[in-house]
Amino acid sequence: MPQLIGAIDQGTTSTRFVIFDEQGNLVTHHQMELEQHSPQPGWMEHDPYDTLDSVRTCMLHAVHKLEGLGYSREDITCIGLTNQRETIVTWDKLTGQPLYPAILWSDARTLETVQQLTEKAGGNTHLLEPICGLPLTTYFTAVKLRWLLDNNLTGGAENGIMVTDVTNASRTMLMDIHTLQWSAEALSFFELDLVQLPKIVSSSQVYGHVHEGPLAGVPISGCLGDQQAALVGQKCFSAGDAKNTYGTGCFMLFNTGDEPVVSKNGLLSTVAYQFGSDNKAAYALEGSVAVAGSSINWLRDNLRVIQNTHQLNELAAQVDDSAGTYFVTAFAGLFAPYWNDTARGTICGLTQFTRLEHICRATLESVCFQSKAILDAMNKDSGKPLRSLKVDGGMSNSDLCMQIQANLLGINVERPMMRESTALGAAIAAGLAVGVWKTMDDLTSVNQQGNTVFESAISIEKRTTMYEGWMKAVESSFGWA
Ligand code: ADP
Repeated sequence: MPQLIGAIDQGTTSTRFVIFDEQGNLVTHHQMELEQHSPQPGWMEHDPYDTLDSVRTCMLHAVHKLEGLGYSREDITCIGLTNQRETIVTWDKLTGQPLYPAILWSDARTLETVQQLTEKAGGNTHLLEPICGLPLTTYFTAVKLRWLLDNNLTGGAENGIMVTDVTNASRTMLMDIHTLQWSAEALSFFELDLVQLPKIVSSSQVYGHVHEGPLAGVPISGCLGDQQAALVGQKCFSAGDAKNTYGTGCFMLFNTGDEPVVSKNGLLSTVAYQFGSDNKAAYALEGSVAVAGSSINWLRDNLRVIQNTHQLNELAAQVDDSAGTYFVTAFAGLFAPYWNDTARGTICGLTQFTRLEHICRATLESVCFQSKAILDAMNKDSGKPLRSLKVDGGMSNSDLCMQIQANLLGINVERPMMRESTALGAAIAAGLAVGVWKTMDDLTSVNQQGNTVFESAISIEKRTTMYEGWMKAVESSFGWA
């Protein structure tokens, strides 16, 4: 009997249910777009009912497709889950009804909350970093929870109880990343002592079973925040392995082994995974770009100058370079390594000569420059320069973008053929818990075939000149909020 593994991949723009076999081959999947709501500038929300419905629908359709291929639903041995991190939903403990829309990871409404908390921290945004690995910014969950309590919720102490895995908990600012427990000190700083938080569990163990629908009774045995899931899906299991996921945002994670490394260069320390509660956690350094693929959507939907990503790539490929045009996609501030909440989107270097082609190219370059800044910081923190970077996510479909990335980094960029790394990571965590794979060695052959390698094709001088221009552009994006 085949052993299949299901993975729920609940992302910012879409929900997927992906079914893999033991070799990591994608057997079938179903995907649905998810609507984001932006009721005010800088605000980003999901309706939690839409999210739940999309998960149910994707599972249902994927199981139908599976049966159409001659498999049976009983072939699915377990299910893993991967989700948006930092996004927060609060709900009524008694009714289970959400109290407010989900506030997305990319939401910047908490600017004022952050300013107040920064004052409280004596101006030191890094105050809690030794505990939780994270600086005070609008990004992390505790700040959003504080905002919810200040603005909308009354019964904070009455919120529901659930489990959360170590990787998701490590994005709240409320977990001590050394002990993997909620930190009394951090809770007290945010005045969240009375809030009932979920129990923290490992990323790979049986949490429960599906209670309804076509997969009722199947164990849910893996859970990872989406970026950690991609790290696992790319099998970055050794210290020094790194991956970059180019989706709505862009996220680079660098495995630092079983000790957290506190960054001196603006990166986050985060839990990478913990396979079973008896095993040690692995840690990662992380750098994120808030606006990556979504800048392309912005050109399409807000400026209406392109119709789709295909057209963007075609236009960008018609010019050899961006002719000195830089697009700093700081729509809601800049994340690592800049951490500037006041930055706003900036296109600079325009001349009479500039055409849409250059702006399209500058859009692809923007995420590659920001990734370079992050990788430079990682190399400094780890003291061991990265040799090659594994990539995935929607924007990694662009050969041109990946070639630009290799050019700017000066190292190889490796892209797997099967790029559902996030879902695969959740499947790996789930499968390890129930014995689909008994040891890490059993994973060696999983998703090994058909990698594309992009090699740098520009001179060091050209790279340096381009990057100097980028740094100037970044400076001019500061201070607009
Ligand atoms: P998420 O998981 O964050 O929802 P995805 O990994 O599905 O996102 O990536 C979606 C993003 O990738 C979109 O913003 C889209 O514009 C971008 N994208 C998809 N295909 C391409 C492509 N061929 N070239 C450039 N960008 C692309």
